[in-house]
Amino acid sequence: MNYFSTRDKSLKFSFKDIFLRGLAPGGGLFLPAKIKKYNQEELNNLSQLNYNELATEIIFNFCSGEIEKEELSSLIQKSYSGFKDKEVVNLKKIGEIDLLELYRGPTLAFKDIAMQVIGNLYDYLEVAKDKTVNVVVATSGDTGSAAIAALSNRKNINLFVLHPHNKISNIQRKIMTTIGGANIYNIAIEGSFDDCQKIVKQLFNEDSFRSKINMSGVNSINWARIVCQIVYYFYSFFKLKKNNISFSVPTGNFGDIYAGYVAKKMGLPINKLIVATNKNDILQRVINTGEYKPDTVKATITPSMDIQVASNFERLLYYILDESDSKVGSLMNDLSSKSLFNLEKKEIDRIKKDFEAVKVTDEETVSIINEIYKEHKFIIDPHTATGVGAAKSFKNLRDIVVLGTAHPYKFNDTIKKAIGKNLDSPEHLKLNIDKKETFDIIGNSNSEVKNYILGKIQ
Ligand SMILES: *Cc1c(COP(=O)(O)O)cnc(C)c1O
Repeated sequence: MNYFSTRDKSLKFSFKDIFLRGLAPGGGLFLPAKIKKYNQEELNNLSQLNYNELATEIIFNFCSGEIEKEELSSLIQKSYSGFKDKEVVNLKKIGEIDLLELYRGPTLAFKDIAMQVIGNLYDYLEVAKDKTVNVVVATSGDTGSAAIAALSNRKNINLFVLHPHNKISNIQRKIMTTIGGANIYNIAIEGSFDDCQKIVKQLFNEDSFRSKINMSGVNSINWARIVCQIVYYFYSFFKLKKNNISFSVPTGNFGDIYAGYVAKKMGLPINKLIVATNKNDILQRVINTGEYKPDTVKATITPSMDIQVASNFERLLYYILDESDSKVGSLMNDLSSKSLFNLEKKEIDRIKKDFEAVKVTDEETVSIINEIYKEHKFIIDPHTATGVGAAKSFKNLRDIVVLGTAHPYKFNDTIKKAIGKNLDSPEHLKLNIDKKETFDIIGNSNSEVKNYILGKIQ
């Protein structure tokens, strides 16, 4: 399978290239040259498969020629063997809502589903065989721990995780800073997630630094993550056996919901993809008004969605702008020179064919957690609650699956405030997070991060 950059279609990359690089040269994002479209008969066949078999079929489309299907199948089995369910994810009926629980992996958020596969791909693709790979990743709270769980103690791999200092939940931080081996470095940046993501992108774009440290990335801009997330859209669609399903997705960097968009492109008859945002509502604004204008990041009770630069949106723009790399490039130039860009009416209309977007405030989120607990004796995390809130605002859409993105235990402070109850650690969290935490606090600057990394790998 060949890949190209959203800002330069003439560039060509293999799956292994894009897996290792994460970000295209010049700052674009990778997309596959071809997206397989299933016909009805093929969909019927897929609907008979268990989760691991389905994951093998879907992921294989994006790496065929470089990985044998049988090897992919055993890699996937190995990746999901530590999950709470054999089926990896779980659909649960809560009143009117179909909740897709995606938080049954080792670090209690949906990020595990892709990251466990990615960890094993590092070994399989032998990217660190002769030379140590330094993975650098920015996290708004959940990617970091999922990456640590996936890469801890792997041979010839170091992992540097940048998180915004004091802007993630206590449990998120504890999981992240207690579970890693000697190859893991936690860095608390004095800034926001956007600052962390910006530093990582800058380091990727500095060719000399990138090659000097043999740098690799696992942020949600890494296409391999999106590919793994496509699987559960298919899986839940087949399980529900209904047509015209919509999905409501708690959204930050636009990665998880973009996987749903690709699923639709692959022939899955999804109706609407609903973007749920918190007060950091840049995606809600661009989808409803056409103006993409990052604001300063505001802290909310859904820290994993406290993002103003939704990187993966660029991947949608590519299709909305008639697959024109130069149009994408010119909007991205506007964004860096004028700090905003505007979409035309026809482009907004195109987006609205597939997407809706709703902002959910912290107050609404808390009352949703409360309501679900009172009515159904079930506890959802604040991120998932934004998805429920967004779904509820569409009275005319039926059959909405809400993506449950994290286990409520990760946000037990907020849960306690909402329902007055302390949560116990779930049994599938096998990690001891009461150990001494290790992380270093450093300033919000590209050069400080570079010096830190160089200091550790000398
Ligand atoms: C990462 C994350 C999100 C946002 O997902 P994106 O792919 O960045 O849009 C939502 N909820 C939780 C709990 C997360 O960890």
